Amino acid sequence: MLCQRTIRKPVHAIGIGVHSGRKVRISMRPAGENAGITFVRTDTEAPASVPALAQFVSDTTLSTTISSGNVQVATVEHLLSALWGLGIDNLVIELSAEEVPIMDGSAAPFIDLINSVGIVNQSAAKQYLRITREIEVKQGDARALLRPYAGFKASYTFVADHPVYNRYPKQATLDFSCTSYCDEVSRARSFGLVKELPQAHAINRCLGSSLHNAIGIEDDQIVNDGGLRYNDEFVKHKLLDAIGDLYLLGRPVLGEFVGFMSGHALNNKLAHALLRCEDAWDVVTFGENERHGVGEPIMQPEASVF
Ligand SMILES: [Zn+2]
Repeated sequence: MLCQRTIRKPVHAIGIGVHSGRKVRISMRPAGENAGITFVRTDTEAPASVPALAQFVSDTTLSTTISSGNVQVATVEHLLSALWGLGIDNLVIELSAEEVPIMDGSAAPFIDLINSVGIVNQSAAKQYLRITREIEVKQGDARALLRPYAGFKASYTFVADHPVYNRYPKQATLDFSCTSYCDEVSRARSFGLVKELPQAHAINRCLGSSLHNAIGIEDDQIVNDGGLRYNDEFVKHKLLDAIGDLYLLGRPVLGEFVGFMSGHALNNKLAHALLRCEDAWDVVTFGENERHGVGEPIMQPEASVF
């Protein structure tokens, strides 16, 4: 049987919020079967929790923020992407401030942190959200869709006429039955044009942004020493974001995601559209010898495999 997973023991780290610029301590703790993923703010008067679910998304400006009442948790997408990559179903994530630390701008530090304490199988069956018919959402020229697929496949295309972006792939399709999330996706960092930073600062965003946690792009060059980690790092980061946003569905998706110029807002709109159409998905588990779709066994994510 494919089982639910949590971490073996608590693990902690300190970083800064990329938008707030504030220092934050993150503690991840094991959670029981079927508990799901929950954020807990420990700096509020009484500890306040916010479930990592699409219904709690309250803002999608440059990152994904979830809220419950007046308690918010910002920039959840990279951590959730890492948790999807490691197949973590149940976890308590405590934060000492309003934002998940940005670390190096990718999901890799969260993968390393969790691997340092280990992952344990629980006894309950892992639940997948299987797409049974296509759902598409649009916003201007941007669109995002989920459709049936035996496994999980994700494609992304962005359109930007810029001398730097023009030098690298703007499209990627990854089938995670034969692609390692940890190796091929998790290290892709956030990126942005240096000249757009003042605009972000004007709306209190990117206050903690630096070359330590993002790829900075100037007129016709990448500012960071060492350049890119992957030749297609830009488009891979967009996939990393989409995977994190989709994990707010509460269960890993069995299906295919296709994004065209989409971002956090459209990803969340897609999640809501899907959840509204109860005939477009079901929840499935897999026993010892069960197979799905065209006959390939579902791969349980492993740090080295999925
Ligand atoms: Zn991102």
